[in-house]
Amino acid sequence: MSAQLQQEFVNHYGKQATNTYFSPGRVNLIGEHIDYNGGLVMPCAITFGTYLLVAPNNEGVFRFKSINFDEQAEVSLQADHKKEGEVWYNYPVGVINYFQQAGKELQGLDMLYYGDIPIGSGLSSSASIEVVTAFALNDLFNAGYSRLDLVKLSQSVENKFIGVSCGIMDQFAVAFGEENKALKLDCNSLDYEAVDSNLGNYVLAIINTNKPRKLAESKYNERVHECQTALKALQQQLNIKYLCDIDTETFNKCKGLIEDATVLKRAQHVVEENDRVKLAAEALNDNNLAEFGRLMYASHDSLRDLYEVSGKELDTVVEYAKTNPNVAGARMTGAGFGGCAIALVKNTAFAQFSQEVTAYYTDKIGYAPSIYSSLIGDGVGTLNEVVKS
Ligand code: ADP
Ligand code: MG
Repeated sequence: MSAQLQQEFVNHYGKQATNTYFSPGRVNLIGEHIDYNGGLVMPCAITFGTYLLVAPNNEGVFRFKSINFDEQAEVSLQADHKKEGEVWYNYPVGVINYFQQAGKELQGLDMLYYGDIPIGSGLSSSASIEVVTAFALNDLFNAGYSRLDLVKLSQSVENKFIGVSCGIMDQFAVAFGEENKALKLDCNSLDYEAVDSNLGNYVLAIINTNKPRKLAESKYNERVHECQTALKALQQQLNIKYLCDIDTETFNKCKGLIEDATVLKRAQHVVEENDRVKLAAEALNDNNLAEFGRLMYASHDSLRDLYEVSGKELDTVVEYAKTNPNVAGARMTGAGFGGCAIALVKNTAFAQFSQEVTAYYTDKIGYAPSIYSSLIGDGVGTLNEVVKS
């Protein structure tokens, strides 16, 4: 991979890249749809992501090329950058723009991107390309940003420049991920703990349903609203700021305050899921993957039945997983309505899992999923070995 990318760079720009960076994608292991309720999420970086090779050009321009997309571009440093339609290089242009707005001095670069992560499937290739660009600029031009500054800058590129409202989890996981660690993260305070997550003889299977996530945005807004309704009802008696300020026991005592049956189901998911994250962190600390897997299944069932953000594609994957004794647990990950599911699968049984889930899914859904085997990887960084090769 490394040598190939250097060769691509030479073919395209007629010179060697001087620096290479890699930023992962991420999955959320557990803790779904609770970040906007003051809850805990538990993402980790995966071993798929975005490579960025660069060389200075002394011409005062940024040149963009991606192996994953056809469009190329050259942007003048002086220009007042604006988002241009839906082209992919809006992401790096946005990052450069925000560095410049902050008064950071940049010089021209030739840039080549390559993602081995499925793009547009909920594994956060967008956070990955933002963070790798921000990290590279910070490194090359000594901009003096901390890792957390880069996370916040990347998130604001996605929110304001690109125009996608997302929380901070994705950029955070991509920047702070650590090999064999899950990040137990409070998205409001940004307090986090890197939880030891030795997968032992298991791998993290990622199953892309290949279903476009059409409903996700409108349903997401609907859920946010339902959670606010539940919170207001509980606030009649409880002095709380977020739904996740209470545990399941307290919720069960007070849930009579919520009149609407649908709103009640949503709130129950939120409170119980937050408790599951805490139990999941303990299970990982104890190296108890069986318990962790059980919590993954419970999380999925709750997202399917109480929060109603799954769908027959994601359910089919998890339904199959439950029949396979080499799977410790599985669940949908991300906003839902398509995108990816994850499963903890014994490494020796991965090939069989992959074949069987593909057959089962194709039979039920009518087209095939894509399956990846990942480990828990490191966050964004420099890849020196690529340059040397
Ligand atoms: P996700 O983050 O779930 O993968 P998004 O729609 O949020 O999906 O982001 C995908 C977009 O990010 C792509 O359409 C493209 O504009 C940009 N992108 C991600 N990876 C790359 C890459 N390797 N090369 C060029 N653009 C990329
Ligand atoms: Mg994205």
